[in-house]
Amino acid sequence: MSEQTYILRTENLTKNFGSLKAVDDISIQVPYGQMRAVIGPNGAGKSTLMNLIIQKTPLSAGKVFLMDKEITGIPTHTISNLGMSKCFQITQVFTSLTVFENVRMSLIVDRKKAYNVLPVASKYLREEVMEILRLIGIADLADEVVKNLSYGDQRRLEIAITLAKRPKLMILDEPAAGVARKESYVLMDLVRELRDKLNMTMLFIEHDMDIVWNYAEEITVMNLGQFVASGTPEEIRHNDFVQKAYLGG
Ligand code: ADP
Ligand code: MG
Repeated sequence: MSEQTYILRTENLTKNFGSLKAVDDISIQVPYGQMRAVIGPNGAGKSTLMNLIIQKTPLSAGKVFLMDKEITGIPTHTISNLGMSKCFQITQVFTSLTVFENVRMSLIVDRKKAYNVLPVASKYLREEVMEILRLIGIADLADEVVKNLSYGDQRRLEIAITLAKRPKLMILDEPAAGVARKESYVLMDLVRELRDKLNMTMLFIEHDMDIVWNYAEEITVMNLGQFVASGTPEEIRHNDFVQKAYLGG
């Protein structure tokens, strides 16, 4: 595969916290349009890896490429303008505002960062916000104050807020965490539907193996900061480490 096949590549990504190698020499490639899961036991370094990719955490060594452009060391908001955003950074949700206001805020911030102008055509903006809410399936909740939302709908809102940044690649750190089993499938259906409708790529951490088997097209396994394996669900199912760690084999 040529390099252009990949929307995201990491080369030898490493993060040391003191003497701990939280992420140890990780090189992964994510093809355009893929649903990619990253799995591994607690403390494997999955969240740290995502934060290195999005440049939220300064790296100790290595490089990150987004659409073949090196983004190592670039500020997270610039990376968002380049097409990669991470979901579920709770700080971006204003719980005393409505669903509509939250998504509008995200749109305004995104446009300001991208073009250094505030969008003034509020009617146009309103339509854009509603379009995102319809896409996510929460248009009927537009005027609801966020703190009154169910947990599942809050997660949906967070996806809507991230979508307002128009990412080509969305990173999701345990999208189904804390959500009831049935609701977690609804959420993952939504993630896959967005991937299909908007030609996106989805890179998600997940600990629920039923979700992983059902939604991942490729699975990357980490342990103790290190790369263990990457492959199709079928390949990973037969991996020795995965057998021992997850399947009791
Ligand atoms: P995972 O998401 O796979 O559960 P993390 O990436 O959160 O794992 O953590 C990997 C390791 O790095 C863990 O041992 C964790 O305690 C450690 N770690 C994570 N963040 C920090 C930090 N800010 N300072 C020190 N150690 C950290
Ligand atoms: Mg984590």
